[in-house]
Amino acid sequence: LLEFEGVNKYFGETHVLKDIDLEVEEQEVAVVIGPSGSGKSTLLRCTNRLEEIQSGEIRLDDVPLTDPDADINELRQRIGMVFQSFNLFPHKTALENVALAPKRVKNVPEEEAHEDARELLERVGLGAQTRSYPSELSGGQQQRVAIARALAMDPDVMLFDEVTSALDPELVGEVLEVMRDLAEEGMTMMVVTHEMGFAREVADTVTLMADGRIVERTAPEQFFDQPTTERGQQFLSKLL
Ligand code: ATP
Ligand code: MG
Repeated sequence: LLEFEGVNKYFGETHVLKDIDLEVEEQEVAVVIGPSGSGKSTLLRCTNRLEEIQSGEIRLDDVPLTDPDADINELRQRIGMVFQSFNLFPHKTALENVALAPKRVKNVPEEEAHEDARELLERVGLGAQTRSYPSELSGGQQQRVAIARALAMDPDVMLFDEVTSALDPELVGEVLEVMRDLAEEGMTMMVVTHEMGFAREVADTVTLMADGRIVERTAPEQFFDQPTTERGQQFLSKLL
């Protein structure tokens, strides 16, 4: 579904993505891990064209995302992204935050957009908070609104960049639960996370990045029990 071929990305002189080849299949949950600065966020940001790549190609359903002529807005609608910071509109309710893009970008009629938003908020366990403003919600609840907002565009793939890293420990579980449900419903997901429990239980594949390269990509059982590369072994030993 989502393919990276020979992707290279530089920030000035710094080579941050080096010949990335990766294929995420439909319904796959691809967890991406690796040390700080290894290029995980950059990889996701390039997928959404928040950053441009210098060579190679990223394709969604065989359509090159990175083509200069690609309709970025249309492609972005097919790629939902959730960040560490929730970035909700503070003066809009949870419901309005979720309904906004479908109304503005997809011209969904107000009533229908609100009905869909209500359903999505219920799905992430916030059926009772539709009228709450972000400031009235906990971090975990805000992050679930952010997930519902990304889902509102009915994306083909969801990208998650350390979505639980800014949360108090007791709020992490409720967000991971929502992601686990999404995975079970068959959403294709690329998930950058430090939550190794989630990786082990929910991932179909674990991709380890180091210094801008993919150094290992295996099933989670294999990775956590017996990583095949030295980098993998090093990474795991630091977690313990
Ligand atoms: P972390 O685990 O800390 O989030 P990461 O794996 O997500 O790390 P990236 O944020 O993708 O790493 O960064 C990869 C490299 O690119 C780093 O060396 C970083 O300093 C550099 N980098 C990232 N964004 C920029 C930018 N906007 N300008 C210049 N360099 C950048
Ligand atoms: Mg990052």
